[in-house]
Amino acid sequence: MSDTEDIVCRDLVRIFRSRDVEVQALQGLTLTVRRGEMVAVVGESGSGKSTLLGILSALDEPSAGTAVVAGTDLSGLSPRRRTAFHRHAVGFVWQQTARNLIPYLSVAQNVAAVLAVAGVRGRARADRTAAVLDLVGMRDHADALPEDLSGGLQQLAALGVALANEPRVLLADEPTGALDRESARAVLATMRAVNEASGVTMLVVTHDERVAAQVRRTVRIRDGRTSTETIRDDLDTGPGEEYAVVDAAGRLQLPESFQQALGLHDRVRLSLHDDHVAIRPGAGR
Ligand code: ADP
Ligand code: MG
Repeated sequence: MSDTEDIVCRDLVRIFRSRDVEVQALQGLTLTVRRGEMVAVVGESGSGKSTLLGILSALDEPSAGTAVVAGTDLSGLSPRRRTAFHRHAVGFVWQQTARNLIPYLSVAQNVAAVLAVAGVRGRARADRTAAVLDLVGMRDHADALPEDLSGGLQQLAALGVALANEPRVLLADEPTGALDRESARAVLATMRAVNEASGVTMLVVTHDERVAAQVRRTVRIRDGRTSTETIRDDLDTGPGEEYAVVDAAGRLQLPESFQQALGLHDRVRLSLHDDHVAIRPGAGR
């Protein structure tokens, strides 16, 4: 892994086995996120998004494959290194607001509590708490309890908590999943602003296509593998360019909309040109 990559997953496989069923939640997922990038991983329910985040946050381990996050190889982490990883290298925002915030503490106390656990004391703790609340636009709500805030503001508070220790990487699992359209937009906009201002690397997983439209790089996950990517050069103008991942065996997955538009099924015609490969509907069999 080079110094410019903050998340590197190679061929991640995660199999859940119960007594008589086996679920392959990840089936060889490969993904690289560069330092300072903000990436959305988008896929339908059951496509393996939470499984991926469980592994990247070192709460779960893959059945096969490797994951390196913020310079830490997550395979076989000792409990001590895992704790250090959780306290300093990564921050999390979960969909369920209850999982993000301690209900009987104010927003500022929630942020300060994380700093206290990490050993930040006195003036430094107060200063950092104020800076984080400014960063996520929650200074006016510093003394509010979570239950007194809207869902969107609760997620901004959660973002502050996740950023308290200045992690290199922020992981978010459906952070806007429980929000209405407007709040979801606002939370995403703040996440983007934080990404740009602080350079923290962000991976957001979601089933919401509208989130995807607000993030420059979108990676699609289907059946536990990343399939296609969209890069938008200008977020405010329509769809961006589509990219597909070519795996080590030369396979690539076409976006479903491309397949449907031209009836690309079974066998397609390929031709190699100077600077591109053309794919046309096959002539049948
Ligand atoms: P997503 O977050 O994209 O909705 P998940 O990662 O939660 O998808 O789940 C992917 C697949 O793995 C689903 O089929 C789900 O039922 C299965 N799965 C997830 N966690 C477990 C588990 N602990 N035990 C058994 N199956 C699981
Ligand atoms: Mg999920």
